Amino acid sequence: MYKIVIVGGGAGGLELATKLGNKLGRKGKAHITLVDKNHTHLWKPLLHEVAAGSLDDGIDALSYRVHAKSHGFNFKLAALKNIDRAAKIIQLDKIIDPDGTEILPESTLDYDILVMALGSVTNDFNTKGVSDNCIFLDNPQQAKRFHHLMLNKYLQLGVKETNKVSIAIVGAGATGVELSAELYNSLEQVSSYGFEHINNTDLKVSLVEAGEKILPALPERISSSAHQELLNLGVDVRTKTMVTEATKAGLITKDGELIEADLMVWAAGIKAPNFLKDIGRLETNRINQLVVKQTLQTTLDDNIYAIGDCASCPLPQGGFVPPRAQSAHQMASLVAKNIFATLKQKPLREYKYTDYGSLVSLSNYSTVGSLMGSLTKGSMKVEGSLARLVYASLYRMHKVALHGYIKTALMMLVERINRILRPRLKLH
Ligand SMILES: Cc1cc2nc3c(=O)[nH]c(=O)nc-3n(C[C@H](O)[C@H](O)[C@H](O)COP(=O)(O)OP(=O)(O)OC[C@H]3O[C@@H](n4cnc5c(N)ncnc54)[C@H](O)[C@@H]3O)c2cc1C
Repeated sequence: MYKIVIVGGGAGGLELATKLGNKLGRKGKAHITLVDKNHTHLWKPLLHEVAAGSLDDGIDALSYRVHAKSHGFNFKLAALKNIDRAAKIIQLDKIIDPDGTEILPESTLDYDILVMALGSVTNDFNTKGVSDNCIFLDNPQQAKRFHHLMLNKYLQLGVKETNKVSIAIVGAGATGVELSAELYNSLEQVSSYGFEHINNTDLKVSLVEAGEKILPALPERISSSAHQELLNLGVDVRTKTMVTEATKAGLITKDGELIEADLMVWAAGIKAPNFLKDIGRLETNRINQLVVKQTLQTTLDDNIYAIGDCASCPLPQGGFVPPRAQSAHQMASLVAKNIFATLKQKPLREYKYTDYGSLVSLSNYSTVGSLMGSLTKGSMKVEGSLARLVYASLYRMHKVALHGYIKTALMMLVERINRILRPRLKLH
């Protein structure tokens, strides 16, 4: 039986495994295995909410094993280490407990078709002191670490000579902007849970961006609208400010200024994981992404596909498909079609990226963005309730791809009930 292995169960990989499992695995037409280094999946665009405490990942996370059982695929917990393309085998690292005990030794898996969907990690561009002093938001563990440290800082307010919690965020893309707003929302919630002495003036968020404007990928009027919202909240927005070093005391700018901060988040740029650089001698670009053809097969091996943030897919008009959840979603659909075509010995299709626009959530305060970017050349600005509805629907679409309409509707109902039953903020 055909063996299909997908490595990485994120926005793209999990949707693909679900689709292939439903259509092929359940009917015994192929053997599908999803490999991920974590036990659970949390949609990455929610990480800033986990960091601020407005989302409890324990409730939203999906167990790969449970999902695999009901969708006709297998799940293997392991981290990819290397690919032996000649033998069509992937090598998986040993599994080690946090206390250092080896649970399982290294292992291998063979494949007929391999799909690489490993996502990306934050790129600190080797800036001095960043890896030691800044937190990245690449996974729930890092987001929870930030949350924990932030709560500790609130506990210290008014005690230990701490009279302000200062948080500096480098990079004013969607992650930096959304996190800034979410922090003010979580502060409002904190003060209603026994921290009555805390108010807006106790938090100082600095959003530092090297470029001319925040949200550089979005049209000017959307970026200026979001900029104004952040200023209204009290965020110290600093554009045209290049950070050259991170120290224990804060960020040092190119002009030598120190932006003092208790906590620092680096969210300026992405790259594919470093170990992809030389993996299986596949072609990679300068940020380690696997270079793919329009069919999403890697340039040097037709049996290996790459999707999502770890893929570098050229656009016909120049440039590359942006690293976004909507790209990963579209790529997963195309690869599913191409795998079905391969099994039926039919020609493969080419990927055409459709830009449905971008939305940025400023927590409960506002949502701004542009819709149907390529159809309207990004000129259809949306704001307020409509934007909020569309923003929420991105996550709903992901859930529908995983669970179908009925289960997603039931989950929405549970979310509504939880809003009444559960606290608005995770406080532990
Ligand atoms: C805070 C934040 C907000 C965002 N907001 C938006 C937004 O509003 N809209 C939007 O379109 N995009 C947004 N993005 C970007 C979006 O999250 C990514 O583009 C998308 O998740 C990429 O999907 P993916 O499948 O390529 O990778 P991911 O979803 O990152 O999944 C990668 C998977 O690979 C696994 N993995 C990694 N390494 C290994 C290994 N060695 N072995 C096995 N498994 C491995 C990981 O555990 C993970 O499950 C946001 C990102 C962040 C961080």
